[in-house]
Amino acid sequence: MTNEELWQAALNELELAVSKANFITWFQNTSIAAHQDGVVVLNVPNAFAKEWLEYKYHKFIVKALRGLSPEIRNIEYVISSELAPLLQKRRREKGIAPQEEQLEFKELMVDRETNLNPRYTFDSFVVGPFNELAHAAAAAVSKNLGRAYNPLFVYGGVGLGKTHLLQAVGNAVKKNSPRLKLIYTTSERFTTELVNFIQNNETHIFKDKYRSYDLLIIDDIQFISGKVKTQEELFHIFNLLYETGKQIIFSSDKPPHAIHDLEERLKSRFEGGMVADIGQPEYESRLAILKSKSFGKENYLNPEVLGFIAANVQKNIRELEGALNSVVAKSKLSGRILNIPEVKEIIDKNTQPKRIVTANQIIKCVAEFYDINEKILFEKTRKKEVVKPRQIAMYLLREDFSGSYPFIGQRFGGRDHTTAIHSYEKIFNELKKNAQLIEEVKRIRELYDYNYLNK
Ligand code: ADP
Ligand code: MG
Repeated sequence: MTNEELWQAALNELELAVSKANFITWFQNTSIAAHQDGVVVLNVPNAFAKEWLEYKYHKFIVKALRGLSPEIRNIEYVISSELAPLLQKRRREKGIAPQEEQLEFKELMVDRETNLNPRYTFDSFVVGPFNELAHAAAAAVSKNLGRAYNPLFVYGGVGLGKTHLLQAVGNAVKKNSPRLKLIYTTSERFTTELVNFIQNNETHIFKDKYRSYDLLIIDDIQFISGKVKTQEELFHIFNLLYETGKQIIFSSDKPPHAIHDLEERLKSRFEGGMVADIGQPEYESRLAILKSKSFGKENYLNPEVLGFIAANVQKNIRELEGALNSVVAKSKLSGRILNIPEVKEIIDKNTQPKRIVTANQIIKCVAEFYDINEKILFEKTRKKEVVKPRQIAMYLLREDFSGSYPFIGQRFGGRDHTTAIHSYEKIFNELKKNAQLIEEVKRIRELYDYNYLNK
Protein backbone atom coordinates (compact mmCIF):
# COMPACT_ATOMS: atom_id res chain seq x y z
CA MET A 1 0.00 0.00 0.00
CA THR A 2 1.39 3.43 -0.82
CA ASN A 3 1.25 6.14 1.82
CA GLU A 4 -1.53 7.75 -0.12
CA GLU A 5 -3.63 4.60 -0.22
CA LEU A 6 -2.99 3.92 3.43
CA TRP A 7 -4.11 7.38 4.46
CA GLN A 8 -7.14 7.27 2.20
CA ALA A 9 -8.22 4.01 3.76
CA ALA A 10 -7.67 5.44 7.25
CA LEU A 11 -9.67 8.53 6.36
CA ASN A 12 -12.55 6.37 5.23
CA GLU A 13 -12.70 4.89 8.71
CA LEU A 14 -12.12 8.13 10.52
CA GLU A 15 -15.00 9.66 8.65
CA LEU A 16 -17.27 7.14 10.31
CA ALA A 17 -15.75 7.66 13.75
CA VAL A 18 -16.07 11.44 14.04
CA SER A 19 -18.82 13.87 13.19
CA LYS A 20 -19.02 15.23 9.68
CA ALA A 21 -18.20 18.77 10.78
CA ASN A 22 -15.21 17.64 12.76
CA PHE A 23 -14.02 15.45 9.97
CA ILE A 24 -14.03 18.30 7.48
CA THR A 25 -12.50 20.75 9.90
CA TRP A 26 -9.65 18.63 11.11
CA PHE A 27 -8.85 16.08 8.45
CA GLN A 28 -8.96 18.23 5.36
CA ASN A 29 -5.55 18.73 3.78
CA THR A 30 -3.85 16.06 5.81
CA SER A 31 -1.56 13.45 4.32
CA ILE A 32 1.16 11.02 5.25
CA ALA A 33 4.54 12.65 4.95
CA ALA A 34 6.52 9.61 5.92
CA HIS A 35 6.07 6.08 7.18
CA GLN A 36 9.05 4.29 8.55
CA ASP A 37 9.91 1.88 11.37
CA GLY A 38 6.37 1.83 12.64
CA VAL A 39 6.14 5.60 12.83
CA VAL A 40 3.77 7.53 10.64
CA VAL A 41 4.36 11.24 10.20
CA LEU A 42 1.23 13.14 9.30
CA ASN A 43 1.28 16.36 7.40
CA VAL A 44 -1.26 18.80 8.80
CA PRO A 45 -2.22 22.23 7.47
CA ASN A 46 -1.66 24.39 10.55
CA ALA A 47 -0.76 24.46 14.21
CA PHE A 48 -4.30 24.36 15.40
CA ALA A 49 -5.11 21.28 13.41
CA LYS A 50 -1.94 19.76 14.79
CA GLU A 51 -2.97 20.41 18.37
CA TRP A 52 -6.40 19.03 17.77
CA LEU A 53 -5.43 15.93 15.94
CA GLU A 54 -2.76 15.20 18.52
CA TYR A 55 -4.86 15.95 21.47
CA LYS A 56 -8.32 14.89 20.57
CA TYR A 57 -8.17 12.45 17.69
CA HIS A 58 -4.90 10.70 18.28
CA LYS A 59 -6.58 7.57 19.63
CA PHE A 60 -8.89 7.37 16.63
CA ILE A 61 -6.08 7.89 14.16
CA VAL A 62 -3.90 5.27 15.80
CA LYS A 63 -6.79 2.83 15.78
CA ALA A 64 -7.61 3.41 12.14
CA LEU A 65 -4.00 3.13 11.00
CA ARG A 66 -3.22 0.10 13.13
CA GLY A 67 -6.28 -1.63 11.80
CA LEU A 68 -4.76 -1.28 8.36
CA SER A 69 -1.14 -1.81 9.23
CA PRO A 70 -0.60 -3.42 12.63
CA GLU A 71 3.09 -2.61 12.81
CA ILE A 72 2.36 1.08 13.26
CA ARG A 73 3.33 2.14 16.76
CA ASN A 74 3.34 5.85 16.77
CA ILE A 75 2.13 8.91 14.93
CA GLU A 76 3.79 12.27 14.72
CA TYR A 77 2.24 15.43 13.40
CA VAL A 78 4.05 18.03 11.37
CA ILE A 79 2.77 21.30 10.02
CA SER A 80 3.14 21.39 6.24
CA SER A 81 4.24 25.00 6.07
CA GLU A 82 7.06 24.34 8.51
CA LEU A 83 8.12 21.35 6.55
CA ALA A 84 8.62 22.94 3.15
CA PRO A 85 11.33 25.45 4.09
CA LEU A 86 13.20 22.83 6.09
CA LEU A 87 13.19 20.45 3.18
CA GLN A 88 14.33 23.12 0.77
CA LYS A 89 17.13 24.13 3.06
CA ARG A 90 18.26 20.57 3.43
CA ARG A 91 18.07 19.94 -0.28
CA ARG A 92 20.23 22.97 -0.92
CA GLU A 93 22.75 22.03 1.71
CA LYS A 94 23.07 18.37 1.06
CA GLY A 95 21.87 17.93 -2.48
CA ILE A 96 19.27 15.42 -1.44
CA ALA A 97 17.04 14.04 -4.16
CA PRO A 98 13.32 14.62 -3.58
CA GLN A 99 12.43 10.95 -3.22
CA GLU A 100 14.82 10.56 -0.30
CA GLU A 101 13.75 13.57 1.59
CA GLN A 102 10.49 12.09 2.84
CA LEU A 103 12.25 9.78 5.16
CA GLU A 104 14.88 12.24 6.19
CA PHE A 105 13.05 15.31 7.26
CA LYS A 106 12.32 14.05 10.74
CA GLU A 107 15.95 14.18 11.65
CA LEU A 108 15.98 17.83 10.72
CA MET A 109 14.01 18.53 13.82
CA VAL A 110 14.87 15.75 16.17
CA ASP A 111 18.42 14.71 16.87
CA ARG A 112 18.65 11.03 16.01
CA GLU A 113 21.14 10.16 18.70
CA THR A 114 19.53 11.89 21.64
CA ASN A 115 15.94 12.27 20.39
CA LEU A 116 16.09 15.89 21.42
CA ASN A 117 14.07 18.54 19.65
CA PRO A 118 16.10 21.77 19.54
CA ARG A 119 12.88 23.78 19.97
CA TYR A 120 12.57 22.79 23.63
CA THR A 121 15.04 24.92 25.54
CA PHE A 122 15.17 26.72 28.87
CA ASP A 123 15.24 29.98 26.92
CA SER A 124 11.84 29.32 25.41
CA PHE A 125 10.36 28.06 28.68
CA VAL A 126 8.27 30.61 30.55
CA VAL A 127 8.45 30.33 34.32
CA GLY A 128 5.56 31.19 36.61
CA PRO A 129 4.31 30.15 40.03
CA PHE A 130 2.70 27.04 38.54
CA ASN A 131 5.95 25.52 37.31
CA GLU A 132 8.56 27.35 39.36
CA LEU A 133 9.59 24.39 41.48
CA ALA A 134 9.88 21.97 38.59
CA HIS A 135 11.81 24.54 36.58
CA ALA A 136 14.22 25.31 39.42
CA ALA A 137 14.85 21.62 40.00
CA ALA A 138 15.41 20.98 36.29
CA ALA A 139 17.77 23.94 36.00
CA ALA A 140 19.74 22.77 39.03
CA VAL A 141 19.98 19.26 37.61
CA SER A 142 21.17 20.51 34.24
CA LYS A 143 24.06 22.33 35.91
CA ASN A 144 24.91 19.59 38.34
CA LEU A 145 24.27 16.22 36.79
CA GLY A 146 23.84 13.43 39.27
CA ARG A 147 24.49 15.69 42.23
CA ALA A 148 21.56 18.06 42.62
CA TYR A 149 18.53 15.79 42.69
CA ASN A 150 18.60 12.22 41.57
CA PRO A 151 16.29 11.14 40.18
CA LEU A 152 14.26 14.16 39.25
CA PHE A 153 10.62 13.22 38.86
CA VAL A 154 8.36 15.82 37.24
CA TYR A 155 4.64 15.25 37.07
CA GLY A 156 1.61 17.20 35.85
CA GLY A 157 -1.36 17.13 33.49
CA VAL A 158 -1.39 17.02 29.71
CA GLY A 159 0.07 19.93 27.78
CA LEU A 160 1.59 21.68 30.76
CA GLY A 161 5.23 21.54 29.74
CA LYS A 162 6.72 18.30 31.07
CA THR A 163 8.24 17.23 27.78
CA HIS A 164 9.48 20.74 27.11
CA LEU A 165 11.19 20.92 30.49
CA LEU A 166 12.78 17.47 30.29
CA GLN A 167 14.08 18.17 26.82
CA ALA A 168 15.37 21.56 27.94
CA VAL A 169 17.63 19.78 30.43
CA GLY A 170 18.86 17.51 27.66
CA ASN A 171 19.50 20.38 25.27
CA ALA A 172 21.34 22.37 27.93
CA VAL A 173 23.58 19.45 28.82
CA LYS A 174 24.24 18.70 25.18
CA LYS A 175 25.26 22.29 24.62
CA ASN A 176 27.38 22.76 27.72
CA SER A 177 28.96 19.34 27.95
CA PRO A 178 29.00 17.94 24.45
CA ARG A 179 31.08 14.98 25.50
CA LEU A 180 28.51 13.56 27.87
CA LYS A 181 26.28 10.79 26.63
CA LEU A 182 22.61 11.36 26.98
CA ILE A 183 19.31 10.15 25.68
CA TYR A 184 15.70 11.21 25.79
CA THR A 185 13.11 8.51 25.38
CA THR A 186 9.55 7.74 26.37
CA SER A 187 8.58 4.77 28.48
CA GLU A 188 6.69 3.38 25.50
CA ARG A 189 9.71 3.59 23.26
CA PHE A 190 11.86 2.13 26.01
CA THR A 191 9.47 -0.80 26.28
CA THR A 192 9.27 -1.42 22.54
CA GLU A 193 13.02 -1.36 22.31
CA LEU A 194 13.39 -3.80 25.17
CA VAL A 195 10.89 -6.17 23.59
CA ASN A 196 12.86 -6.14 20.35
CA PHE A 197 16.09 -6.92 22.13
CA ILE A 198 14.46 -9.71 24.10
CA GLN A 199 13.11 -11.24 20.91
CA ASN A 200 16.60 -11.29 19.48
CA ASN A 201 18.06 -12.68 22.68
CA GLU A 202 20.10 -9.55 23.11
CA THR A 203 18.91 -8.15 26.40
CA HIS A 204 22.51 -7.63 27.44
CA ILE A 205 23.00 -5.18 24.56
CA PHE A 206 20.00 -3.22 25.73
CA LYS A 207 21.43 -3.11 29.25
CA ASP A 208 24.87 -2.12 28.06
CA LYS A 209 23.40 0.64 25.97
CA TYR A 210 21.41 2.18 28.80
CA ARG A 211 24.08 1.87 31.43
CA SER A 212 26.42 3.90 29.25
CA TYR A 213 24.52 7.15 29.60
CA ASP A 214 25.47 10.07 31.80
CA LEU A 215 21.94 11.35 31.55
CA LEU A 216 18.87 9.22 30.97
CA ILE A 217 15.55 10.99 30.44
CA ILE A 218 12.36 8.93 30.31
CA ASP A 219 9.15 10.80 29.52
CA ASP A 220 5.65 9.62 30.44
CA ILE A 221 6.84 6.88 32.75
CA GLN A 222 3.24 6.20 33.81
CA PHE A 223 2.89 3.92 30.77
CA ILE A 224 5.25 1.46 32.38
CA SER A 225 2.32 0.48 34.56
CA GLY A 226 1.65 -3.24 34.46
CA LYS A 227 4.72 -4.01 32.31
CA VAL A 228 6.55 -6.38 34.59
CA LYS A 229 9.59 -7.13 32.46
CA THR A 230 10.19 -3.49 31.58
CA GLN A 231 9.95 -2.53 35.23
CA GLU A 232 12.48 -5.15 36.14
CA GLU A 233 14.98 -4.00 33.54
CA LEU A 234 14.42 -0.37 34.39
CA PHE A 235 15.06 -1.14 38.03
CA HIS A 236 18.45 -2.64 37.25
CA ILE A 237 19.41 0.09 34.84
CA PHE A 238 18.34 2.67 37.38
CA ASN A 239 20.52 1.15 40.06
CA LEU A 240 23.55 0.90 37.81
CA LEU A 241 23.26 4.52 36.75
CA TYR A 242 22.40 5.80 40.18
CA GLU A 243 25.29 4.05 41.88
CA THR A 244 27.76 5.56 39.45
CA GLY A 245 26.37 9.07 39.92
CA LYS A 246 24.61 9.29 36.56
CA GLN A 247 21.53 11.46 36.30
CA ILE A 248 18.05 10.09 35.70
CA ILE A 249 14.96 12.18 34.98
CA PHE A 250 11.37 11.01 34.68
CA SER A 251 8.07 12.63 33.89
CA SER A 252 4.59 11.32 34.50
CA ASP A 253 1.03 12.52 34.49
CA LYS A 254 0.72 11.58 38.16
CA PRO A 255 2.97 11.26 41.21
CA PRO A 256 4.79 7.95 41.75
CA HIS A 257 2.44 6.65 44.43
CA ALA A 258 -0.55 7.04 42.10
CA ILE A 259 0.89 4.98 39.25
CA HIS A 260 -0.95 1.67 39.04
CA ASP A 261 0.70 -1.67 38.86
CA LEU A 262 4.12 -0.35 39.58
CA GLU A 263 6.58 -2.35 41.68
CA GLU A 264 7.09 -0.92 45.16
CA ARG A 265 10.83 -0.87 44.75
CA LEU A 266 10.55 1.29 41.64
CA LYS A 267 8.04 3.56 43.31
CA SER A 268 10.43 4.19 46.13
CA ARG A 269 13.27 4.81 43.67
CA PHE A 270 11.12 7.37 41.86
CA GLU A 271 10.42 9.09 45.13
CA GLY A 272 13.99 8.96 46.32
CA GLY A 273 15.18 12.19 44.72
CA MET A 274 13.08 15.21 43.97
CA VAL A 275 9.40 15.01 43.02
CA ALA A 276 8.16 18.28 41.53
CA ASP A 277 4.78 18.99 40.04
CA ILE A 278 3.66 21.37 37.33
CA GLY A 279 0.25 22.86 38.02
CA GLN A 280 -2.19 24.87 35.95
CA PRO A 281 -0.85 28.26 34.89
CA GLU A 282 -2.83 31.19 36.27
CA TYR A 283 -3.83 34.19 34.20
CA GLU A 284 -0.55 36.12 34.48
CA SER A 285 1.47 33.13 33.45
CA ARG A 286 -0.85 32.39 30.56
CA LEU A 287 -0.43 35.96 29.39
CA ALA A 288 3.34 35.76 29.73
CA ILE A 289 3.38 32.56 27.70
CA LEU A 290 1.24 34.16 24.99
CA LYS A 291 3.54 37.15 24.87
CA SER A 292 6.57 34.96 24.51
CA LYS A 293 4.92 33.02 21.71
CA SER A 294 3.74 36.07 19.84
CA PHE A 295 7.24 37.18 18.99
CA GLY A 296 7.32 37.94 15.27
CA LYS A 297 3.52 38.01 15.07
CA GLU A 298 3.03 41.43 16.62
CA ASN A 299 1.31 42.80 13.54
CA TYR A 300 -1.59 40.45 14.07
CA LEU A 301 -2.10 40.88 17.78
CA ASN A 302 -2.70 43.55 20.37
CA PRO A 303 -2.87 43.55 24.17
CA GLU A 304 -6.66 43.15 24.24
CA VAL A 305 -6.55 40.10 22.02
CA LEU A 306 -3.77 38.50 24.07
CA GLY A 307 -5.58 39.32 27.29
CA PHE A 308 -8.77 37.82 25.98
CA ILE A 309 -7.09 34.59 24.93
CA ALA A 310 -5.26 34.34 28.26
CA ALA A 311 -8.51 34.85 30.14
CA ASN A 312 -10.52 32.34 28.13
CA VAL A 313 -8.21 29.48 27.27
CA GLN A 314 -7.38 27.95 30.59
CA LYS A 315 -7.00 24.30 30.05
CA ASN A 316 -3.35 23.93 29.23
CA ILE A 317 -0.44 25.47 27.37
CA ARG A 318 -0.88 23.36 24.31
CA GLU A 319 -4.39 24.73 23.81
CA LEU A 320 -3.16 28.21 24.56
CA GLU A 321 -0.58 27.97 21.80
CA GLY A 322 -3.17 26.48 19.47
CA ALA A 323 -5.62 29.29 20.07
CA LEU A 324 -2.94 31.91 19.52
CA ASN A 325 -1.87 30.36 16.24
CA SER A 326 -5.39 30.09 15.06
CA VAL A 327 -6.11 33.71 15.83
CA VAL A 328 -2.93 34.79 14.05
CA ALA A 329 -3.79 32.67 11.02
CA LYS A 330 -7.25 34.20 10.76
CA SER A 331 -5.85 37.65 11.28
CA LYS A 332 -3.34 37.13 8.48
CA LEU A 333 -6.15 36.14 6.17
CA SER A 334 -8.18 39.20 7.10
CA GLY A 335 -5.17 41.48 6.82
CA ARG A 336 -5.97 43.16 10.13
CA ILE A 337 -6.08 42.57 13.85
CA LEU A 338 -9.25 40.74 14.85
CA ASN A 339 -11.78 42.26 17.22
CA ILE A 340 -12.83 40.53 20.42
CA PRO A 341 -16.05 38.96 19.10
CA GLU A 342 -14.08 37.45 16.24
CA VAL A 343 -11.46 36.09 18.63
CA LYS A 344 -14.19 34.74 20.86
CA GLU A 345 -15.75 32.91 17.96
CA ILE A 346 -12.49 31.20 17.12
CA ILE A 347 -11.91 30.17 20.71
CA ASP A 348 -15.45 28.91 21.23
CA LYS A 349 -15.22 26.88 18.11
CA ASN A 350 -11.91 25.36 18.95
CA THR A 351 -11.59 24.77 22.64
CA GLN A 352 -12.54 21.37 23.90
CA PRO A 353 -16.25 21.01 24.29
CA LYS A 354 -17.56 20.66 27.82
CA ARG A 355 -18.70 17.19 28.71
CA ILE A 356 -22.13 16.60 27.34
CA VAL A 357 -23.06 13.20 28.56
CA THR A 358 -26.39 11.67 29.49
CA ALA A 359 -27.27 9.84 32.69
CA ASN A 360 -27.54 6.57 30.77
CA GLN A 361 -24.14 7.00 29.22
CA ILE A 362 -22.56 7.63 32.61
CA ILE A 363 -24.15 4.52 34.06
CA LYS A 364 -23.12 2.43 31.06
CA CYS A 365 -19.51 3.54 31.37
CA VAL A 366 -19.36 2.83 35.09
CA ALA A 367 -20.75 -0.64 34.51
CA GLU A 368 -18.36 -1.19 31.64
CA PHE A 369 -15.39 -0.02 33.67
CA TYR A 370 -16.13 -2.30 36.62
CA ASP A 371 -17.23 -5.05 34.33
CA ILE A 372 -20.59 -5.59 35.95
CA ASN A 373 -24.08 -5.78 34.54
CA GLU A 374 -25.66 -2.36 34.45
CA LYS A 375 -28.92 -3.65 35.91
CA ILE A 376 -27.26 -4.83 39.10
CA LEU A 377 -26.52 -1.20 39.94
CA PHE A 378 -30.24 -0.59 40.38
CA GLU A 379 -30.91 -3.60 42.57
CA LYS A 380 -30.98 -3.54 46.32
CA THR A 381 -27.85 -5.58 46.79
CA ARG A 382 -25.19 -4.51 49.29
CA LYS A 383 -22.42 -6.54 47.74
CA LYS A 384 -19.17 -4.66 47.92
CA GLU A 385 -18.43 -5.04 44.23
CA VAL A 386 -21.73 -3.31 43.47
CA VAL A 387 -21.90 -0.71 46.23
CA LYS A 388 -18.78 1.14 45.18
CA PRO A 389 -19.60 1.38 41.46
CA ARG A 390 -23.09 2.49 42.40
CA GLN A 391 -21.75 5.24 44.61
CA ILE A 392 -19.37 6.36 41.90
CA ALA A 393 -22.16 6.39 39.34
CA MET A 394 -24.23 8.58 41.65
CA TYR A 395 -21.28 10.87 42.21
CA LEU A 396 -20.70 11.23 38.47
CA LEU A 397 -24.38 11.80 37.80
CA ARG A 398 -24.20 14.72 40.18
CA GLU A 399 -20.87 16.10 38.96
CA ASP A 400 -21.06 15.59 35.22
CA PHE A 401 -24.76 15.51 34.56
CA SER A 402 -25.83 17.93 37.32
CA GLY A 403 -28.59 15.54 38.33
CA SER A 404 -30.62 16.52 41.38
CA TYR A 405 -30.39 14.18 44.39
CA PRO A 406 -34.02 13.09 44.12
CA PHE A 407 -33.48 12.34 40.43
CA ILE A 408 -30.35 10.35 41.18
CA GLY A 409 -32.05 8.39 43.95
CA GLN A 410 -34.97 7.68 41.66
CA ARG A 411 -32.72 6.60 38.83
CA PHE A 412 -31.11 3.98 41.07
CA GLY A 413 -34.10 1.83 41.79
CA GLY A 414 -36.21 4.40 43.62
CA ARG A 415 -33.79 5.09 46.43
CA ASP A 416 -34.24 8.01 48.76
CA HIS A 417 -32.48 11.30 47.97
CA THR A 418 -30.51 11.00 51.22
CA THR A 419 -28.88 7.88 49.82
CA ALA A 420 -27.80 9.86 46.79
CA ILE A 421 -26.36 12.60 49.00
CA HIS A 422 -24.56 10.09 51.15
CA SER A 423 -23.06 8.38 48.10
CA TYR A 424 -21.99 11.65 46.57
CA GLU A 425 -20.30 12.83 49.74
CA LYS A 426 -18.65 9.53 50.38
CA ILE A 427 -16.96 9.58 46.98
CA PHE A 428 -16.29 13.31 47.13
CA ASN A 429 -14.35 12.92 50.39
CA GLU A 430 -12.68 9.73 49.35
CA LEU A 431 -11.37 11.46 46.21
CA LYS A 432 -9.38 13.86 48.37
CA LYS A 433 -7.18 11.11 49.65
CA ASN A 434 -7.52 7.96 47.59
CA ALA A 435 -5.23 8.03 44.57
CA GLN A 436 -6.55 4.75 43.27
CA LEU A 437 -10.07 6.09 43.24
CA ILE A 438 -8.99 9.33 41.58
CA GLU A 439 -7.48 7.27 38.83
CA GLU A 440 -10.58 5.12 38.44
CA VAL A 441 -12.86 8.13 38.15
CA LYS A 442 -10.53 9.66 35.64
CA ARG A 443 -10.58 6.53 33.55
CA ILE A 444 -14.34 6.29 33.65
CA ARG A 445 -14.54 9.84 32.37
CA GLU A 446 -12.09 9.03 29.63
CA LEU A 447 -14.33 6.16 28.76
CA TYR A 448 -17.34 8.32 28.24
CA ASP A 449 -15.36 10.91 26.39
CA TYR A 450 -14.10 8.14 24.21
CA ASN A 451 -17.43 6.37 23.76
CA TYR A 452 -19.72 9.27 23.28
CA LEU A 453 -18.09 12.52 22.33
CA ASN A 454 -17.68 13.21 18.63
CA LYS A 455 -20.25 10.66 17.72
P1 ADP B 1 3.34 17.86 28.32
O1 ADP B 1 4.56 17.07 27.99
O2 ADP B 1 3.25 18.21 29.77
O3 ADP B 1 2.08 17.26 27.81
P2 ADP B 1 4.52 19.76 26.50
O4 ADP B 1 5.87 19.90 27.10
O5 ADP B 1 4.39 18.95 25.29
O6 ADP B 1 3.47 19.27 27.60
O7 ADP B 1 3.96 21.24 26.24
C1 ADP B 1 2.90 21.51 25.35
C2 ADP B 1 3.23 22.73 24.54
O8 ADP B 1 3.27 23.87 25.39
C3 ADP B 1 4.59 22.67 23.89
O9 ADP B 1 4.52 23.27 22.62
C4 ADP B 1 5.49 23.47 24.81
O10 ADP B 1 6.56 24.08 24.11
C5 ADP B 1 4.54 24.51 25.35
N1 ADP B 1 4.90 24.89 26.72
C6 ADP B 1 4.65 24.17 27.84
N2 ADP B 1 5.10 24.82 28.92
C7 ADP B 1 5.65 25.96 28.48
C8 ADP B 1 6.28 27.06 29.15
N3 ADP B 1 6.42 27.09 30.48
N4 ADP B 1 6.72 28.07 28.38
C9 ADP B 1 6.57 28.05 27.05
N5 ADP B 1 5.98 27.05 26.37
C10 ADP B 1 5.52 26.01 27.08
MG1 MG C 1 4.73 15.19 27.07
